[in-house]
Amino acid sequence: MSKYEFRPTRPHPAWIETPQEQWESWTWQLQNRITKLDDFKRISQVDSQFQVDLEDIARTQTDFDFAITPYYFSLIEMANSNCPIRKQAIPSSLENKKLDFELIDFPKEESMMPVPGLTHRYPDRAMLYTTHHCAVYCRFCTRKRKVSDASTALRSQQISQAVDYIRSTKQIREVILSGGDIFSLSNDALGELLDKVRSIEHVEIIRLGTRNLVTLPFRVTDQLVSIVKQFHPIYVHTHFNHPVECSLEAQQACLKLRRAGIQVNNHTVMLKGINDKVETLRELNQRLLLMGVQPYYIYHCDLTYGTSHFRTKISDDLGILRSLREKFDWSKDSSLPHYMVDTPGGGKIELF
Ligand code: SF4
Repeated sequence: MSKYEFRPTRPHPAWIETPQEQWESWTWQLQNRITKLDDFKRISQVDSQFQVDLEDIARTQTDFDFAITPYYFSLIEMANSNCPIRKQAIPSSLENKKLDFELIDFPKEESMMPVPGLTHRYPDRAMLYTTHHCAVYCRFCTRKRKVSDASTALRSQQISQAVDYIRSTKQIREVILSGGDIFSLSNDALGELLDKVRSIEHVEIIRLGTRNLVTLPFRVTDQLVSIVKQFHPIYVHTHFNHPVECSLEAQQACLKLRRAGIQVNNHTVMLKGINDKVETLRELNQRLLLMGVQPYYIYHCDLTYGTSHFRTKISDDLGILRSLREKFDWSKDSSLPHYMVDTPGGGKIELF
């Protein structure tokens, strides 16, 4: 029997009266997200353990909104100001610090767009950003230049233009549907888009980029799975960063996809003070495997503006990965994910 348990998430006292049916409704979760300072104020009145510096949040000068689902907020260890979930989700004025070498569009995605909203960097692969909405806005987001800003999301005419580009570009054999978060689309919109992309003869593989498995696992309904599974071969790429995120609800969401034959791969970002420890990564990897998720990539945090407080050193990351390999006898062909570094506009390089 595994030493790792997957426990149900107890709703935070602010939502303790919420009927279970509502709590497990993804639409209820979205409607009840924490999006304003007053929401934090209300929660700290209900729970004296939750201490938050409202002035610090108010000082955070960014166009990148904040939003936290009640589910993801309930994962926070309230009395711990260094809680890894808190750090990923609650804004901090440290985001105001912008270093000279940090960039607004670090991967230069915008300059590689033959049509709006579609990055075509590698000949055989294209990435389409359909929505700039996410259930939770992760404070380290690489695309915070546009994510959370609904006005920058693609209009249906632009999505058609992007699909036409893919259709007329025969070397594209893999399409990544991302955002924001692709599972932010309604079931109908997602089904329609998948139908269009799958009808293109030269597109072999479709990948879906979503963090809903982590921040809103209730989004993975039977209906959603029945839509996605019509479009095999299709892969889901998600983004667990810490073992605390591997709850029973997250496990159930991942297993639902796996039972429908949908491979789920995980990308982790190394984040200072959050997951940059051998034991943390070891437990995360083990939990992912138990959830049926393949640990796929570990990324060095991009040089995106206002994220220096999250960034580790590459040499430290490599040291952690070496220790994992030595201490736990992880060889190249086991579950040790590849360590990748994004270069400004030059794509990814594998360092480990
Ligand atoms: S889910 Fe992804 S795109 Fe959305 S805020 Fe988090 S990292 Fe950014």
